[in-house]
Amino acid sequence: MRIIVEEDRERGVDPAARIECARCHEARPLIGSVDYDGIRLCNACATLFEVARLNGKAWSCAEFVGKTPAGAH
Ligand SMILES: [Zn+2]
Repeated sequence: MRIIVEEDRERGVDPAARIECARCHEARPLIGSVDYDGIRLCNACATLFEVARLNGKAWSCAEFVGKTPAGAH
């Protein structure tokens, strides 16, 4: 997900800004995070979600957040 990080930097996203990830509940950089229909995931969780979706293991972000335990990076 490096592309997202670079795009955010180019858009001028504050590199010090933090979000609370909906899945791992940690304060993560805003840069590289992804908003899925109002559910914001950090870059690591968003990557896991994309992999799960590609593998047919998750259909929606809400389902992914509900099914995978926090901290299972
Ligand atoms: Zn996360």
